Amino acid sequence: MGLLLGCVADDFTGATDLANTLVKGGMRTVQLLGPPSGPLDPHDCEAVVVALKSRTIPVADAVSQSLAAAEALRAAGARQLFFKYCSTFDSTDEGNIGPVAEALLEALGSDFTIACPAFPTAGRTIYKGYLFVGDELLSESGMKDHPLTPMRDANLVRVLARQSTRSVGLVPYAEVAQGPAAIRAAFDRLRHEGFGHAIVDALQDSHLLAIGEAAADIPLITGGSGVALGLPENFRKAGLLAGGASDSLPQVPGPAAVLSGSCSRATNGQVAAFLSQGGEAFALDPLALAEGESAVAGALDWARRRLGARPILVYSTAEPNAVAAAQEKLGREAAGSLVESALARIAEGLVEAGLRRLIVAGGETSGAVVSALGVTALRIGPEIDPGVPWTVSLDEPRLALALKSGNFGGPDFFTKAFERLS
Ligand code: ADP
Repeated sequence: MGLLLGCVADDFTGATDLANTLVKGGMRTVQLLGPPSGPLDPHDCEAVVVALKSRTIPVADAVSQSLAAAEALRAAGARQLFFKYCSTFDSTDEGNIGPVAEALLEALGSDFTIACPAFPTAGRTIYKGYLFVGDELLSESGMKDHPLTPMRDANLVRVLARQSTRSVGLVPYAEVAQGPAAIRAAFDRLRHEGFGHAIVDALQDSHLLAIGEAAADIPLITGGSGVALGLPENFRKAGLLAGGASDSLPQVPGPAAVLSGSCSRATNGQVAAFLSQGGEAFALDPLALAEGESAVAGALDWARRRLGARPILVYSTAEPNAVAAAQEKLGREAAGSLVESALARIAEGLVEAGLRRLIVAGGETSGAVVSALGVTALRIGPEIDPGVPWTVSLDEPRLALALKSGNFGGPDFFTKAFERLS
């Protein structure tokens, strides 16, 4: 049926989160890694999410990359655009949310958009324009001390106004609670009063569904992945969704491995569970990596010889005291990049040796691995655990990939994931 929804996300994990939401809503979805380098091939899907890394780059770069992505999405047939940012509205007075939204509006020849980062399941709610993180105002949450985007004002109308040229209005809870018709009327009223943006209150998922329904005809929607919950239904009602399973993936046979560079509590538990079940595993030591190339060669050699039906694990995952010790000797950044580049090279070597099914644990680690493998596009498949879907790369060779950021997944994630694939 062709591309319906074109999305631009300001970071990689946010893009996956959105893509996963759309697939669960029934839209076949592809995620592109980085700005498209040429015309888009919509790959027989109904939504494309372009993952940028534009959250904290200079405004002009964020604007130009977002515009290029939007142009490619529209040229590929997208009927509606979605600009995805974090549910904690990560930004500064310079941007990048306001400037990117306004540039996209202009490109579309439109004059009104909504901004709704609410994600009640994750505790992000908006009431009278104030964003709450759990029980706290945004400005009293951990986000107030974020190193790059400290959020010291919880009033999103003010926050967005400081980074925008168009004025910012509010659709308050009282109107949102009345449902889609009232919300649509509020959009129309604000637009006629000359507002360019509307922050929209939302306290629960039903509000997001109503907002999504009310936004069916708005050319540009901005927000978190929550507000995308209601969008697939608009296309379904219009008879534009193909129907059938949106999460089916092509079969990718071949040897399997897990590469883990995350040191989060959840990942430590997953590695321990894999080991206790007798899984074959190789521990990478950052200090040995710092000694020279032979540590990577040794790990790769170990792994190559064991590639087969049973998944193997190569990991640098360690408990906090071991991580702190390595960081003290090598420096935090150096330890991180040594491990990332080692795991990326091991991934390359293993794919050359025939590896086709891969779980990567760690957000930064995943970024390093997919870029070393030259992956540019992923079809999004079934969810393994909340927020982590299986995907299949659309580049050659085809790879089944599950990219898990640190805190995601239950203790048996690795085994469960491979079982889902067979
Ligand atoms: P997460 O999603 O859990 O935050 P990331 O991959 O984003 O995981 O970040 C983990 C960081 O820690 C990476 O830069 C990785 O290279 C680094 N790292 C991994 N293992 C070790 C270790 N044993 N000692 C020090 N740093 C490590």
